[in-house]
Amino acid sequence: MSKYVKFTHERARAEVTPFDRFAELNACRWKLLQLRLIGVDSNGTSFGNLSVRDGASTNFYITGSATGGVPELTLADWTKVVAYDFERNWVRYEGSTVPSSESLTHAAIYKSNAMAGAVIHCHDSTLWTAILNQAPTSSKAVGYGAPEMAYEIMRLFKVSDPESRKILVMAGHEGGVVTFGRDLEEAFAVLMHERKESSSCVDGAFHKRTPHDDEWIS
Ligand SMILES: [Zn+2]
Repeated sequence: MSKYVKFTHERARAEVTPFDRFAELNACRWKLLQLRLIGVDSNGTSFGNLSVRDGASTNFYITGSATGGVPELTLADWTKVVAYDFERNWVRYEGSTVPSSESLTHAAIYKSNAMAGAVIHCHDSTLWTAILNQAPTSSKAVGYGAPEMAYEIMRLFKVSDPESRKILVMAGHEGGVVTFGRDLEEAFAVLMHERKESSSCVDGAFHKRTPHDDEWIS
């Protein structure tokens, strides 16, 4: 049981159906972990999650809740979401662990965009700051893991064009960004591209000095 999960959940099977994308998911997750885009924060809270769609269905395989800091996931750390209901804030899944707290956010993307085959949610404060309100951004009033976030994501697909840039920003969840793509490779490439753009933007602008910078301390 995870204290981070805000939805009610029901287990369909104790074991996740084996899937052929497992190695690919773990390889991508490993890269995200190395870049500290997923992991465990200073409070010991896990952050970041990724998923792939199951064929043409709206079901998906997603990392289990509170697995952010686990170096290498085994099949037991993955879950398959096989049904969900935004209104009831409810998820049915296969696996021995509860699916990620952001499962309904991932579900909202698969539901909104038939082309989306993979979703990455990570934390990157530099990127978040750079693209806040510049890329499609969810309401500041909505925090992580709430069904309201799923509704926000679906609203963004209606009022803006997340398909073109394939990135969303969570204003009410500091550092939180979501990328997606046809497959994991694309979702990851979008994230790397956006990070590169945002860092060159920061470098190219100005280096603001604050009294906290070493140079200012005499
Ligand atoms: Zn998050």
